[in-house]
Amino acid sequence: MKIQTISKTDNELCFVLSGIDSVYANTLRRIMLVEIPVLAIDEVTFIKNDSALYDEIIAHRLGLIPLTTDLKTYEKKDSCSCKGKGCAKCQLTLSLKAKGPCTVYASSLESTDPKVKPAYPDLPIVKLLEGQKLELEATAVCGIGKEHIKFSPGLAYYRAYPIIELKGCKDKLIADICPKKVFEFSDKLEIKNLINCDLCKACEESCKDNSIKVSASETNFIFNIESFGQIKPIEILQTALKVLEGKLEEFEYKLTKKEEKPKKETKTKKVGKKKKK
Ligand SMILES: [Zn+2]
Repeated sequence: MKIQTISKTDNELCFVLSGIDSVYANTLRRIMLVEIPVLAIDEVTFIKNDSALYDEIIAHRLGLIPLTTDLKTYEKKDSCSCKGKGCAKCQLTLSLKAKGPCTVYASSLESTDPKVKPAYPDLPIVKLLEGQKLELEATAVCGIGKEHIKFSPGLAYYRAYPIIELKGCKDKLIADICPKKVFEFSDKLEIKNLINCDLCKACEESCKDNSIKVSASETNFIFNIESFGQIKPIEILQTALKVLEGKLEEFEYKLTKKEEKPKKETKTKKVGKKKKK
């Protein structure tokens, strides 16, 4: 397996993963979308709401505000040592107090943990008119996208790496036909930006002498990760790999446990120790 970074910004990561198959690529994608724990507002107590919007609409909006998450500090409620009761490791409180006339933005949310704050402070929540008040207390918990999409850390998608075979094509028009500007033409057609190719095959279909062949790689994939702001794209990838490893370990443990069970006929409570590779 080989990994090569194509581009990297605060919110986006693009890389080529080589030497895998589509099953592995899709597993990784699905874990990135719905199995990474991040914080989101889950419960809201309204103390005062004079705004034109119902409590539930505001609560819904608050739930969708991405909150910066420190994965080293927080973990999922059901795997937390408090056993789901709620403690400083799996939840925190945010409060909001505003008086009109004004537009209430996400930045008005005051968090008890300075590390946890709205990723985009300029997200509008509601407009308040003269004299209207909004006061509430919200509880953010750590969850995964499988439970609710508000816990999804971002978008993850991939496409097959393009393979373009050029057999001395002399057609100058092909460079202009390609919508992704993959080719350049000097004295013959050459590939300039292979990574841009989205396999539309416009070049192959327009080429009269069959000197272009476009196909999709079955082992190399171009991945894109776009973060919603809670954690960095690289953390999404790293956490996804940890989650996958954990799942495989659990699978292996359950397999070995099943194998061992019939051998032990005595009723011992000792569970077979996790085998390490
Ligand atoms: Zn806890």
